[in-house]
Amino acid sequence: MRIFSLEGKTALVAGASRGIGLAIARQLAEAGASVTLAARSETELCARAAEIGGKALRLDVCDAQSIADAAEAVGAPDILVNVAGTVIRKRFEEFTEAEYAKVMDTNLNGIVRLTQQIGARMIARGQGGKIVNIGSLMSLLGLPYLSVYAITKGALAQLTKVLAAEWARYNIQVNCIAPGFIVTDLNRAVWESQPMLDWLKGCQANPNPGKPEDVAPLAVFLAGRGADYITGQVIAVDGGYTTTAVWPLEPK
Ligand code: NAP
Repeated sequence: MRIFSLEGKTALVAGASRGIGLAIARQLAEAGASVTLAARSETELCARAAEIGGKALRLDVCDAQSIADAAEAVGAPDILVNVAGTVIRKRFEEFTEAEYAKVMDTNLNGIVRLTQQIGARMIARGQGGKIVNIGSLMSLLGLPYLSVYAITKGALAQLTKVLAAEWARYNIQVNCIAPGFIVTDLNRAVWESQPMLDWLKGCQANPNPGKPEDVAPLAVFLAGRGADYITGQVIAVDGGYTTTAVWPLEPK
């Protein structure tokens, strides 16, 4: 199993205080990495970091100075996982400037800044690296009322492909995970609704919403040397939502 080991590797998980980011931080640590958990909620971060033997780091991806300070503190990790994100669901024609800016700054502009600064340090260190971006189904398709979120997640998928090409010469592999419907604080209310659960049963091969722990193993794999020949990919972890349809008729 040494092919999956992250012993001796350092990792920064941006957006690790809960949900998918926390599950990724936990599983990276279980695979042997020294993990820095970064986000805004310092009390949560410190508690979770202590549980997994990692370090906590305050980071607000909407604040350029906070990003610069975090990059300075972390230096050049072997692994960067960009998870920080938020969502606002509403009709496109009703988005305010402030709502637009919040989603763009959190999901895209901040991730771009952080990746620039950590990537530059990885390049300068000269020992390669792995970058895993957390996209979404909205990196791959369109669902209504998620326009601004989809702009950011589509852009992350494209950034993934361009950086995979641009930083290949530095032995940095860049990939993107597109999680499907994963129950977290971001959407818990949606998945407490029976009509939503019934809808999912009718359109996805795996009839249930996923858990953060269903997404994290792919991040661990993409962070390790088993993924040295995989770059520029957008990989869905979605119970088959983007690849399957449910067919109501049984053969006679
Ligand atoms: P979550 O439980 O709400 O976690 C969001 C994480 O992002 C938290 O750790 C939060 O930490 C961090 N974050 C938010 N704003 C931040 C900021 N300004 N600076 C630094 N960190 C920030 O949601 P989640 O579902 O795990 O979402 C994680 C990622 O997965 C997001 O990018 C989301 O778009 C993506 N995703 C989720 C799903 C899903 O179904 N849940 C599906 C596809 C993609 P603090 O609040 O402590 O800062």
